[in-house]
Amino acid sequence: MEFRYLGNSGLKISEITYGNWLTHGSQVENDMAAQCVRAALDEGISTFDTADVYANTKAETVLGEALKGERRESLEIFTKVYWPTGPGGKNDTGLSRKHIMESINGSLQRLQTDYVDLYQAHRYDTETPLEETMQAFADVVRQGKALYIGVSEWTADQIRAGVELARELNIQLISSQPQYSMLWRVIEDEVVATSAELGVSQIVWSPIAQGVLSGKYVPGQPLPEGSRATDEKGGADMIKRFMRDDVLTKVQDLKPIADDAGLTMAQLAIAWVLQNDNVAAALVGASRPEQVAENVKAAGVKLDADAMAAIDSALGDVIERDPGKTKETSPQTRVV
Ligand code: NDP
Repeated sequence: MEFRYLGNSGLKISEITYGNWLTHGSQVENDMAAQCVRAALDEGISTFDTADVYANTKAETVLGEALKGERRESLEIFTKVYWPTGPGGKNDTGLSRKHIMESINGSLQRLQTDYVDLYQAHRYDTETPLEETMQAFADVVRQGKALYIGVSEWTADQIRAGVELARELNIQLISSQPQYSMLWRVIEDEVVATSAELGVSQIVWSPIAQGVLSGKYVPGQPLPEGSRATDEKGGADMIKRFMRDDVLTKVQDLKPIADDAGLTMAQLAIAWVLQNDNVAAALVGASRPEQVAENVKAAGVKLDADAMAAIDSALGDVIERDPGKTKETSPQTRVV
């Protein structure tokens, strides 16, 4: 495993980070979830990402159980707040002081830890003054319940405003967690440029495009059994944005590029996001331990310029690059 600094901080994280969205507490039985976490630890992954909203809090509980007994100082545990959880009361959502101060306590309890290394705003809350949110995060940090602060799917302007307030409050906002893959490059022009200037790293989600870039979904062929595209508990709905024949056809053209590089297609996809210097980690999911073992081999891989160019030309016009998508795909009003 290779490790990278997270933003302008002294914190090192594993460049392959394990995330449990849609799997723990949902698609995958608890025993298999524990096996995936065991495989991650055995392969040298030290950084784990979850959120209170995953499986409506169950994912945090499953991860907490799976990591029980591990040396806390050797792990980096990340979680998030914003989306509604619990009974959906009027204040059970967003980035108000009330919801942040209450949510961190629930997350710590479920994760069975006294602190998280990174506490992330899962989306931007258009209805809470940013000053209130950042003051609450600062208090969470001063209480020792989180060491660093991060955000997810914020625009470049929102990241800049957050970092400025964090500096005034003497806390460190050091990460942004956006979607990023060969197919979804919307952060490159604005979010990455601003983040690099401000000392903020990206921890990127769905680097394999939820499994699509592994090449296992072949147009015209039945869906692989047990795959996310068949998961009626939520996965199938989430992956459908990529399940188009034009995308799946072009993805098959990545196979010879992966072969030439001596990689599987999933490894190529993960290695690709790690070529970007502003990316601190590829945040990878898994439904089976074998996937973890395969995916970690992308750590430390260098792709040459020819391979990078071949990827661009294979995918062509199915690559999404519009920086406006960060805002467009985020909630315009607070979700209740
Ligand atoms: P990936 O793109 O890594 O997709 C993971 C899924 O792809 C697996 O669950 C598995 O699904 C399939 N897969 C993984 N490896 C292989 C392989 N080697 N061969 C074939 N199939 C494979 O990322 P996710 O979409 O799971 O997201 C990763 C993490 O990012 C999440 O757990 C979460 O922590 C974070 N995230 C953050 C978001 C945010 O808003 N901040 C939003 C979404 C995710 P299967 O076997 O079922 O087909």
